[in-house]
Amino acid sequence: MYDVIVVGARCAGASLAMLLARAGHRVALVDRASFPSDTMSTHFLWQRGAARLQAWGLLDPLQERGCVPIRTITFDVGPVRLCGIGPPVGGVSDTYCPRRTVLDALLVKAAAESGAELVDGFVVDGVVWSEGCVVGVEGHSRGSAGTTLRARVVVGADGLHSTVARATGARSYQEHPALTGVIYSYWSGLSGLGASFHARPDRLILIWPTNDDLTCIYVAWPHKGFRQVRKNVEAEFHAALDLVPGLSEAVASGQREQRFVGTDDLPNLYRTSVGPGWALAGDAGHHKDPSTGMGMSDAFASAELLAEAIGEGLVGQRPIDGALSDYQNKRDALTANGYALTLSTAQLAPLTPRLEAFYRAAADQPEVIRRIFGVIGGSLPIGELLEDGA
Ligand SMILES: Cc1cc2nc3c(=O)[nH]c(=O)nc-3n(C[C@H](O)[C@H](O)[C@H](O)COP(=O)(O)OP(=O)(O)OC[C@H]3O[C@@H](n4cnc5c(N)ncnc54)[C@H](O)[C@@H]3O)c2cc1C
Repeated sequence: MYDVIVVGARCAGASLAMLLARAGHRVALVDRASFPSDTMSTHFLWQRGAARLQAWGLLDPLQERGCVPIRTITFDVGPVRLCGIGPPVGGVSDTYCPRRTVLDALLVKAAAESGAELVDGFVVDGVVWSEGCVVGVEGHSRGSAGTTLRARVVVGADGLHSTVARATGARSYQEHPALTGVIYSYWSGLSGLGASFHARPDRLILIWPTNDDLTCIYVAWPHKGFRQVRKNVEAEFHAALDLVPGLSEAVASGQREQRFVGTDDLPNLYRTSVGPGWALAGDAGHHKDPSTGMGMSDAFASAELLAEAIGEGLVGQRPIDGALSDYQNKRDALTANGYALTLSTAQLAPLTPRLEAFYRAAADQPEVIRRIFGVIGGSLPIGELLEDGA
């Protein structure tokens, strides 16, 4: 019998298991995958996400695995380019772009070293109920008979298509349909490109230097036209790069090292994330378009909030139901700004004259640029820019 079973061992689940184990709880960390392994995601980790890693003692180990700090980002909206970075968060001034093979393996290792029991290669098929309360999970390893694991709390940190959410009947709210479809790949020989964000009408192009001297290039198209893009991925991808002066030529000087991958399965939603004996963390409880690169940072934040709530309940500091409800409210409040910004960014709308004037005026004001990056990264509310004319 565990105190907590965490299903899903990446940004949300491994962090949560680590924090609970460090607090002395008996934790099983379960994933159908084994680690290191990749997942569908790019890499941008804003300062607020990196600040969580710093607080947990994992930022230095991440850098030791070849993940370099990013000190300047280019924000290019066509007629105007701003270069800078947001204000520090929790003493962390830089952003990072770790490969998920590296980041997730580091988190899983930290969870195991903190005392969580890793059960990898184990598929959770459903939850176990007793008297209206979730008391465990049932699942199977490859080629073996089904197994039941029991715990006082089961957490679904199992991503957008969460089995725990489905099994508990967690309902969606604040739901918006997918707005984009995206494709990305990795190039060697492009380290000079740096980190940049290029917005054009109906296109978003993101460029991130990541581990192993590779550069990830990501293009987003409107969801409604994405089926056409899928028919001719390479040509559509390069046509998007042509929208940014000099980019196609720069990319041609490098070498693509991996196949293109992509998805348009990018709904925007919250889910009821607590119930008797269960909770949801990370994408399982709140999913949004990746265009603002906030999913990992939000997953860390939700893991930290949930660890605190479960911990209070487990040690009897307060009834666990109340602690879990507070978790959902705090998570929603913490992510509200980023959700609104993401829904707006993912429209891939043309630049309005008012915003263009605002960015032009900001171009020679480093303090305003800092605040713009703070808002884009989700560490400052959008209201911070209103007095500047945004
Ligand atoms: C194309 C793309 C680009 C992105 N780019 C960025 C970015 O630049 N920056 C950023 O911050 N975010 C980005 N995101 C979002 C980010 O990937 C997610 O927000 C983040 O991975 C959420 O972490 P998680 O731990 O909640 O879930 P996940 O990373 O989805 O992990 C869920 C885990 O649960 C396991 N699992 C699922 N079902 C079961 C089951 N039944 N039994 C056992 N295990 C199970 C899976 O194997 C998986 O390991 C991007 C997403 C996409 C799709």
